[in-house]
Amino acid sequence: MQQKILSKNAIDFIDDQKLHRLIGETREDRIRSRDIVQKSMQKEALSLEETAALLAISSPDGLEELFESAKSLKKAIYGNRIVLFAPLYIGNYCVNNCSYCGFRKSLRNTVRRTLSDQELTAEVAQLQREGHKRLILVYGEHPQEYTPEFIAHTVKICYGVKTEHGGEIRRLNINAAPLSIEGFKTVKEAGIGTFQVFQETYHKESYNQYHPINTVKGDYMWRLNAMNRAFEGGCDDVGLGALFGLYDWRFEVLGLVAHSAYLQQTYGVGPHTLSFPRIKAAHGLKMNMQYQVSDEQFKQLVAVLRLAVPYTGLIMTARESPQVRDDVIEFGVSQIDAGTRLEVGSYQEPRGGEQELKREQFKIGDSRELDEVIGWLLQKGFIPSFCTSCYRLGRTGVHFMEYAIPGFIGKFCTPNALLTLAEYIEDYSSPQTKETGYQLIDKELDQFPEGDFKTKIQQKLQQIKTGQRDLLY
Ligand code: SAM
Ligand code: SF4
Repeated sequence: MQQKILSKNAIDFIDDQKLHRLIGETREDRIRSRDIVQKSMQKEALSLEETAALLAISSPDGLEELFESAKSLKKAIYGNRIVLFAPLYIGNYCVNNCSYCGFRKSLRNTVRRTLSDQELTAEVAQLQREGHKRLILVYGEHPQEYTPEFIAHTVKICYGVKTEHGGEIRRLNINAAPLSIEGFKTVKEAGIGTFQVFQETYHKESYNQYHPINTVKGDYMWRLNAMNRAFEGGCDDVGLGALFGLYDWRFEVLGLVAHSAYLQQTYGVGPHTLSFPRIKAAHGLKMNMQYQVSDEQFKQLVAVLRLAVPYTGLIMTARESPQVRDDVIEFGVSQIDAGTRLEVGSYQEPRGGEQELKREQFKIGDSRELDEVIGWLLQKGFIPSFCTSCYRLGRTGVHFMEYAIPGFIGKFCTPNALLTLAEYIEDYSSPQTKETGYQLIDKELDQFPEGDFKTKIQQKLQQIKTGQRDLLY
C-alpha cells in the first residue's frame, strides 16, 4: 500500500503506555495543582505529568480554581480579543471512510461538489461583504481532485477577490489532508497561513477502528508525521487538533500536549493553534458514542489546554452551541468562526433554511450571522478582531515566539484588534453593533497611557472613519 511506504521512516512520539499510565495513576492533589498553575502563570509549557494532574481535578472547588486560572492566563497572554474567521468548504469529494464524517466515500447519496473558479470567487466576495478578512479553506481528501497545485490555485483565487470598501481576504488558513514535503512547499509558496491537520484520535487502536486500513487515511503514522513534513517543506505555521468523542478525552488532551512538545523540541516552534472539535451529528453517522464528551468535561479540557500550552492559540468552532460558546470562551479560547455555513457553495444561498445533512459534513451548533456573533462578543467585553498583522509582517514561527513577550499585546495585538474592528464597524456592521463597538473602542483606549502611541492609534481610527484601510502595526 502506497501510504505504508510513505510512512515507513515515520517517528512515533506518542507513547500510548505512558499516557494510559498517567491517566490511570494520577489523582487530584490541590497543593500540587496550585504549584503547576503557578508554572503556567509564568507562561511555561507544562509536562505530560503536570497536564495529567490538571486533568485529574474533579472536585468542584478544584475545578473552580482551574477555570479562574485559565481565565487570567488567557487575559495575560491574549488580552481580551477574540479573532474571527469563517470556514469555506471548497469540495467534498473524498476517498476515505471515516465513520464519523458525512463526506465519507461510502455514503453514495451525499451531495458531492467542488466549487468552480467562478463559484469560489462569488463565495469569497459574499464573505467579504459580510465583513470577513480571514478564512480557512476546507477540502475532502482526494489525491486526484485536491492536489497541492489545486489547493495553491484556490488560494490564489481567494487572495485575488476584491470588493467595495477595500474588501479583501488577508489571511487564508488550510484544513486539508496531510501532504508530502513537496506538497507543503507548493502550498506555502501560494501564501497560506496556518496548515491544519487534526490527528482525530491519538489512540492508535481507536484510530484504526474509525479509519479503515485500506483507505488513504488508514495510516496513523502518515498523519502523525504530517507536521514534520510541513516544517521540512518550509511551513512553520501549523495547527493540530483532535476530534473529541473518539476516545477518552484525557488521552486526547495528553496527545495534543505531547505533539506540541515534540514540534517545539524538534523544530524550535510549537503549533500556532490547537482545535478540539466535538463530534456532531452527521449524515449516516455510524459509531457508538461511548466516549462522548460532556459539557463539563469540554470546559475542563479547554482550561487544561490553555494552561498546558500558554502560547498556543485555541480555536473553538461553531460545532458548539451559542450557550456552550458563551460558557467556555473565557477559559482560554483565542479564535472562533462566525457566520459559518458548511454546505459547499452555501454562502451565496439564502439563509435561514434547515441544515440538510446530506449536503453538510456535520451539523453545526452556532448558526448566528457574523454581526450577531460580534454583538455577543462586544456585550461580553471582548474585542472582536480581524487582525492578520503578524503573518503579513513575517511574525510567524520562531519570529513569532520572539514577539510573544510581555508588552507584545499592548504594542501590536490590541491596537490591531481595535483598528480592524473599526473597519468592520464602518463598512459592514448594523447600527446597534456600531454603537456598542465604538463604546468598547473608547473604553479600551482609556486604558492606554497618555502619550504618542495612544495619539497615533486615535489618529489611525480617525483615518479609518475617513475611508483609509489596512492600517496595521
Ligand atoms: N478531509 C480532511 C481531513 O480529514 O483531514 C480535512 C477536512 S475535514 C472536512 C476537517 C475535520 O472535520 C476533520 O479533521 C474532523 O476532525 C472533522 N469532522 C469530521 N466529521 C465530523 C463530525 N461528525 N463532527 C465534528 N467534526 C467532524
Ligand atoms: Fe474525508 Fe476528511 Fe471526512 Fe474523513 S474527515 S471522510 S477524510 S472529509
